[in-house]
Amino acid sequence: MIRRTKVLTFGPAEKKMPSAKTMAKNVIKDGGSILKSGFKLVDSKTFDQRIKTCTDCEHVRVRGEEIRCSICGCYMKRKARFEVAKCPEKKW
Ligand code: SF4
Repeated sequence: MIRRTKVLTFGPAEKKMPSAKTMAKNVIKDGGSILKSGFKLVDSKTFDQRIKTCTDCEHVRVRGEEIRCSICGCYMKRKARFEVAKCPEKKW
C-alpha cells in the first residue's frame, strides 16, 4: 500500500529554483573549493548562525526539514557546514 504524506512548507516554498545547468555549475564550482580546502568544516555555532540567516532570508525555500537557497539551488544544511562555502548574496 502506498501512503501519501503531506509535505509541510513555510516561507516562500514556491520560489523558482535556478536551472539545472546553473545548479550543476554551482555544484562543480563549490565542490572544487570544498575539495581544495580539504573538506574543512565550521564549528557548530557558525553553522547555526548560517542556518538561522538562511531561514530568515527572502530567498530560502523550505520543505519539511529541507532548506534550499533559491539563488544557488544548494541544500543549505549540507553546504553551510563547509568553511569555504559562501552565500551567493554575501549574507554569510
Ligand atoms: S545562502 Fe544566502 S541567499 Fe541563499 S538562502 Fe542562505 S542567506 Fe539567503
